[in-house]
Amino acid sequence: MTASTSPSRSAARPRAPDGLWFGKDLSTPEPIPEAAIERAVALMRSGRLHRYGEQGSGSAEASLLEQEYAAYAGSRYCVAVSSCGAAMFLALLALGVKPGDKVLTSTFTLAPVPGAIAHAGATAVLVETDADYLTDLADLERKAAGSGAKVLLLSHMRGHITDLRAVLDICGRHGVAVIEDCAHTMGARWDGKHTGTWGKVGCYSSQTYKHINSGEGGLLVTDDDDVAARAILMSGCYMMYDQHILKPDAAVFERWKYRTPNFSMRMSNLAAALLRPQIATLADRALRWNHIYATLVRELGHAAHLRFPRRPEKEEFVASSIQFTLDLSPAQIERFLSECDLRGLYIKWFGAPNPVAFTSNYEHWHYLDAKPDSPRSMGVLRQLLDLRTPLSLTDADCALIGKIVVAASAVASSAT
Ligand SMILES: *Cc1c(COP(=O)(O)O)cnc(C)c1O
Repeated sequence: MTASTSPSRSAARPRAPDGLWFGKDLSTPEPIPEAAIERAVALMRSGRLHRYGEQGSGSAEASLLEQEYAAYAGSRYCVAVSSCGAAMFLALLALGVKPGDKVLTSTFTLAPVPGAIAHAGATAVLVETDADYLTDLADLERKAAGSGAKVLLLSHMRGHITDLRAVLDICGRHGVAVIEDCAHTMGARWDGKHTGTWGKVGCYSSQTYKHINSGEGGLLVTDDDDVAARAILMSGCYMMYDQHILKPDAAVFERWKYRTPNFSMRMSNLAAALLRPQIATLADRALRWNHIYATLVRELGHAAHLRFPRRPEKEEFVASSIQFTLDLSPAQIERFLSECDLRGLYIKWFGAPNPVAFTSNYEHWHYLDAKPDSPRSMGVLRQLLDLRTPLSLTDADCALIGKIVVAASAVASSAT
């Protein structure tokens, strides 16, 4: 017997007595738009997959993507790199983080975030997560004042956006620069302004499961001349920074070009060619994702012991996934998950004792130098469930998911 939830294998699996069965693979990506495929094919015919050439040769796809993304997000500069993890690493170094420095970051985040801090040789100082999955502002204030950190790497994890005005106010008073991890908030805004443009630097991902897809890829945005020049140099432009369309003046590069290492974290033209036509699809995808979110909130809302986070009015989120809290014990949540599994529905859990697939929590990151001082966050993560919401989900799918969650939570809450 396999753990596959594909319909073709479902006959071999035990079924729940209520007969409920979902069985779709929620991690099936959407196809790449035809316009992007055509652009990529034309580029492959030219062989110009690397963004630079010693003799120039017109505008590279990567440069055009940077120009178009900066215009979309409302930033001065954009640097295309190999992943969001690379963008965060470069952002930390561009803001002057040195080995041994402390960096504030969110407790509720994905492993590449503490990974970027470790990559920079720095020490992560975890800031607590509140019951609505946001960064706890009182704990941020305390740690911004007392930790000695000069940078906050703030993760808008799973698209949940902490009050950015309040974050900037606290950090501004303590001389802490803000980097935004926007891997789940491309296209989202706080109070009308794009996430990623509030802090000094914003970092986005184009990994397959984020909002635009080139397999792997990252974008770094900033309005700061020195950060932009350093990021371009560190990403690996050699001495061809002049081939960027968006770039600070030559004098800024003169300040940095002989003392900045090349970390070879460029984005390839092929990834950029795939991404350029996808930017125009973001608004429509956001509407469709948010329709699915609203439908699921309605359908799952019938389940006992289930709570959705309160979402601030200023948060214009893009819900490419859904999270909820189940007010049950860990053993009951394990039962909930197995009851969902029995009905062909794969739900992820941030409180699992061991990391599973993409999902882990800060207790699993044994490489952190300092012991986490965030006792309340684990209480939140222990009850935090997570579901992918691909755009292929129909209203009928959402209704069925709702029925399954209601049934599974009823069984789980009567278990001991
Ligand atoms: C995926 C993800 C990242 C890292 O993105 P990569 O492009 O895979 O490096 C960072 N932060 C969060 C919250 C993510 O989900």
